[in-house]
Amino acid sequence: MGDGEHTDVLVIGAGFSGLYALHRLRSLGFSVRVLEQADGVGGTWFWNRYPGARCDSESYYYCYSFDPELEREWTWTERYPGQEEIRGYLEHVADRYDLRRDIEFGVRVSAAAWDESGWTVTAEDGSSRRCRWLVTAVGCLSAANVPDLPGLADFAGEWHHTGRWPHEGVDVGGKRVGVVGTGSTGIQVIPVLAEQAGHLTVFQRTPNYSIPARNAPVSAAETAATRADYAAIRRVQQASTNGHPFVLSDVDVLDLPADRRRELYEAAWERGGLRFRAAVKDLLTDRAVNDDASDFIREKIRETVHDPATAETLTPRDHPFATKRPPIDTHYFETYNRDDVSLVDVKADPIAAVTPTGVRLESGAEHRLDVLVFATGFDALTGPLLGMDIRGRDGVSLREAWADGPRTHLGLGVSGFPDLFTITGPGSPSVLTNMPVAIEQHVEWTTDLLLRLRDTGERAEPTPEAEEAWAHEVVRAAEATLLPQAASSWYLGANVPGKARVFLPYAGGYARYRDTCAEEAAAGYPGFALTRPTATESPVAAAGR
Ligand code: NAP
Repeated sequence: MGDGEHTDVLVIGAGFSGLYALHRLRSLGFSVRVLEQADGVGGTWFWNRYPGARCDSESYYYCYSFDPELEREWTWTERYPGQEEIRGYLEHVADRYDLRRDIEFGVRVSAAAWDESGWTVTAEDGSSRRCRWLVTAVGCLSAANVPDLPGLADFAGEWHHTGRWPHEGVDVGGKRVGVVGTGSTGIQVIPVLAEQAGHLTVFQRTPNYSIPARNAPVSAAETAATRADYAAIRRVQQASTNGHPFVLSDVDVLDLPADRRRELYEAAWERGGLRFRAAVKDLLTDRAVNDDASDFIREKIRETVHDPATAETLTPRDHPFATKRPPIDTHYFETYNRDDVSLVDVKADPIAAVTPTGVRLESGAEHRLDVLVFATGFDALTGPLLGMDIRGRDGVSLREAWADGPRTHLGLGVSGFPDLFTITGPGSPSVLTNMPVAIEQHVEWTTDLLLRLRDTGERAEPTPEAEEAWAHEVVRAAEATLLPQAASSWYLGANVPGKARVFLPYAGGYARYRDTCAEEAAAGYPGFALTRPTATESPVAAAGR
């Protein structure tokens, strides 16, 4: 396999999406090849090896559901699975379904171009492969966002982005370590680095809410109960807004007397994790409800952090709770009570430059560092796709087509780019959902469409009208919530200088999205132009079948 090869389908990426796409397409008789830039499977869980990396979804539902046998044979050890355990799970999946023989590792796709006979996909090493259908499974949070700070190249210590953490680890023992960023990643890595470093300095721009995760080992009895209940758990997930198996609360918190309301919040705080969000009805649609829940979390920060000035700096006031992706933590706020941890407010005094010996702020204050860690997030959703030069009809590039922000139909296809399918693309519910649930739905829906195209010989490409209508629906869904009120959110592209401000994922809820996709399929895909190529440009011939 390799250079010059033709297959029915090329899949880019071997994380949760790419592995399932390969398994399902191959089971349906398609010839498939997966191209993966890393030298192992796992996608985000291959790269994010920073200390403390762990999933915020609980292990028993942050996994595939397509095979009950797989559910029965895999045993999770902790309530929230750590990076190594998830990577081990995905390696197990790759072995169990004999996926590796169709994955080429170490192949970084740089370009893909469509012509009348299909797609030509080119890798950085100059090799190329052809296919009829191109499926991108490149993840939403895989393009690292490193701030363009003057002087970084001359830093004499070592610096790392958490999403590209060295596999051999980083020895921070006794060293002066700085962390930039207090999103989900920063909130995970900070308490662990604080344990290891000589001194830790956190450079915080925007304070964040966080809920205790309450991680714990999973007992044999819990595993048995989950296995016995899996079918029901999966049903709840499928009917849910976020792909979690929680039933959202139906209690109007503001109607409760103060003591009962407090009890509700305290119980949710004790349960921990993303269940806190589910315990507050209308949290993301009613500002008064959100203010009340946000006040409770602000109070918890004040109770936890001993120094009042530090507590105040850590207290979020600029956005409602959960309008940015809500982090969950293990001893995050407690970490600021350590003598060897300091907090620097870089909103008040921004980072001016990295110097050979550390970080200098605009005021001139200097922080000497041996190791600098960027927990500064990702160029989300569009970054991984626009990192490749994808060209559709008439040589038009995706970068040109998306100059004012991404346009898709259902997040899965782009007008002007025939036979291209974008798993977890912008406009899909992806990152607002427990990812494996969205991924399985995207893959199954897409492969069902490919089955039809194989039978009919048609090409598929979203119509401009369907794309326009979906863009309106994505805006409508976001505006029906408080989500756009977080001005600095990566959901809006606000974290990357120069990026178009467009709400990127679909906020209408997973169940509603799934129903919309099902209606589209049942109606014969009216949002897609399904065209038959002329005899001279037959894609079936091009696929070499
Ligand atoms: P993020 O949420 O985008 O947070 C980046 C942080 O870096 C923010 O605090 C941001 O401040 C700060 N920052 C960025 N550029 C900066 C600059 N030039 N100067 C100072 N501060 C700067 O990124 P993330 O924490 O990596 O998380 C991204 C997403 O990945 C999460 O929201 C989540 O979906 C996913 N994730 C999941 C897990 C999990 O499940 N366990 C763990 C980690 C990440 P501002 O807020 O001011 O922009």
